[in-house]
Parts: sequence; structure tokens; C-alpha cells
Amino acid sequence: MNDLINKAAQLVARSGRIVAFTGAGVSAESGIPTYRGESDGLWKEYDPNIYANIDYFKKDPTYFWSFFRDIRYRTLVSSSPNAAHNALAKLEQMGKLHTVITQNIDGLHKDAGNTNVIELHGNTRVIGCLECEADYDFETINTRIKTQLPPLCDKCGGMLKPRVTFFGEQLPAGAMENAAYACANCDLMLVVGSTLAVFPAASLPMMASRSGAKVIIINLGQTEMDQVADILIDGKAGEVLPLLL
Ligand code: NAD
Repeated sequence: MNDLINKAAQLVARSGRIVAFTGAGVSAESGIPTYRGESDGLWKEYDPNIYANIDYFKKDPTYFWSFFRDIRYRTLVSSSPNAAHNALAKLEQMGKLHTVITQNIDGLHKDAGNTNVIELHGNTRVIGCLECEADYDFETINTRIKTQLPPLCDKCGGMLKPRVTFFGEQLPAGAMENAAYACANCDLMLVVGSTLAVFPAASLPMMASRSGAKVIIINLGQTEMDQVADILIDGKAGEVLPLLL
């Protein structure tokens, strides 16, 4: 592993415009379970086709909000950036890392100090009305769901949902275009903690590689795009990234 990290560090040293592309694995060491990890995959316990599917949500929002109240909210509020997030923030301060593109909805890259973060699937700390576009912060809604399930909009009585992309929904406007631009204009992509199984996001490392960038994948276990990597490091993000730095 040390040999691979040394090679990766040489690539980082030679690169002037790095893009990081992160998934649930980068937040695993902050205590937020991944969806598809071998040991902690959340989907072994909860069915994503139910709680993260827009059609099901509209039919039965109470199922999602119970999951949010009992499980999701607790893990999100008790979590903070880990050594991997902090290493990426440091890489930006060093003038190396230009953009973080994340599939995560936990906001931890911004908490760590990264300033140019594209949240491809939105941010779960903002709760929005599906009817009138009003936004609420998640502490307000968390208080409300103790007594009202599902929570409804104060202004119009519409259905509330975190501003995150569920299965069956489009990505936030402009997010994929901005991410594609960043990928086409970087010289190194660091992929961290993603199985690279969720499209269209998973197409980004291939896009970067085709534009001439080198690709380093740091992930615990295999990804579906291992063949795209110039360097593949099977390890924990919170251990590998500080060493790389
Ligand atoms: P994924 O669950 O499909 O894959 C995560 C990968 O990270 C797995 O291969 C796992 O083995 C690996 N991993 C686990 N711990 C790791 C560690 N410490 N270091 C490095 N790798 C580690 O996640 P994905 O590819 O991001 O796609 C799933 C979808 O899940 C995304 O759309 C995302 O929105 C959503 N999601 C987000 C969060 C979050 O915001 N923190 C958490 C769960 C799921």
C-alpha cells in the first residue's frame, strides 16, 4: 500500500488542478453508514426503493419521515468531518484541489472548509416544499416531526421533502453540467469512497480520464470503474488521504 500511496503522492505533486469526486465512503468514518459498503451498508436494513424513491415518497411520506426522524437525523447531527474531509480541505488550501464534486448529502465537505463544492444530490439539511418552493432548516422540521407526520408547509400546506435527489428525480439544475466542466478541465481526479454505481454521477471519472486527467481511486473494496483508475488504493479514506497529503 505504501508504494501505491507514494506513486499517488507523486501524481498529486505534479498536478495543478485536482478535482475530488466523493461518495458515501468518505463520510463512513464520521459515523454515517454507506448504502452499499460490505459491512455497514444501510440498504441491508432499509430498502432504498421505498425510502429514497420519489413515487413511493408521494404515496407514503410518513415512511420516509419516520426513517428520517428515527435514524437519519440522529446520524447527521451527531457527525462531523473526519480526517478524509479535512485532508481534502487542506489540499484546497495548498492550492491543489479546485473542486469537490460529491454524491453525499451530509454537507461535511463544506463543514471541513472546502469552498467550491458541487453537491450533485443536494443537501439534506435543507427541507423544501414540493408545492411552493419554501425552504426550512432541518432543526425546525425535526422538532415538528415529533408531533406531525408527515410535516407540512406552513405557507401552503404542501408536502415537505429534503432537497435531495431521490430515485426517479432529476439532479439539481446545473449540477451535472458544472461537474462535467470541472472534470473536463482537471489534470487529476481523486475518487474517494464510492462504488461508482449510481449514474449519471458515476460517469464523471470516465469523463475526466477521457479528457486526459489521471484518475486515483481510493475505496474500501472494489468499484464498478476500477478499470478507469491509473492508481487504485483499497483502503480507508481517513487513513489513506492524510498519508497522501
Ligand atoms: P455507496 O454506498 O454505493 O459506496 C460507498 C463505498 O465506500 C463502498 O464501496 C464502501 O466499501 C466504501 N467505503 C466504506 N467505508 C469507507 C472508508 N472508510 N473509506 C473508503 N471507502 C469506504 O455510495 P455512493 O457511491 O456514494 O452512492 C450511493 C448514494 O448514496 C449516493 O447517491 C449518495 O447520495 C447516497 N448516500 C449518501 C450518504 C451521505 O451523504 N453521507 C450516505 C449514504 C448514502
